[in-house]
Amino acid sequence: MDPKKIYEKVCSRCGERKSIDNFSVDKRNTLKFGRTNTCKVCRVIENREYYYKNRDKILIRFKKYRDKHRRELKIYYKIYREKNREKLSKLAGEWYQKNKEAIKKRNLKYIEVNKEACLERNRLWRIRNKEKIREYNREYRRRKEA
Ligand SMILES: [Zn+2]
Repeated sequence: MDPKKIYEKVCSRCGERKSIDNFSVDKRNTLKFGRTNTCKVCRVIENREYYYKNRDKILIRFKKYRDKHRRELKIYYKIYREKNREKLSKLAGEWYQKNKEAIKKRNLKYIEVNKEACLERNRLWRIRNKEKIREYNREYRRRKEA
């Protein structure tokens, strides 16, 4: 008898015989080595199929939950943010440092694709902030000369 056979299982979905590593641990399943009946690959497909088939239902349920608990969630997030202000800003800083290059690239790409719109926005911004810019330049020069 091949001892390896004991550690193999047939997936109930794709019907393939696979080693036990290919099946997730399922504590409810006390038979068959306490593993799921479908292999990991099939589980991923199943989950994805479930999501796509029930996407509307899932989204509606999620939205309903959010609507129902809007106030609690708002308060919860507010408290969470306040409690973790330092941690969150540190995390954001770390995230930025880690993704600096990617962000820069994305911004450049965005500017490249939206060149006209960016230039226009820039122009409008400069018109709207004419006074501020002039003051800033004056201040800048003053500091440089000092
Ligand atoms: Zn399978």
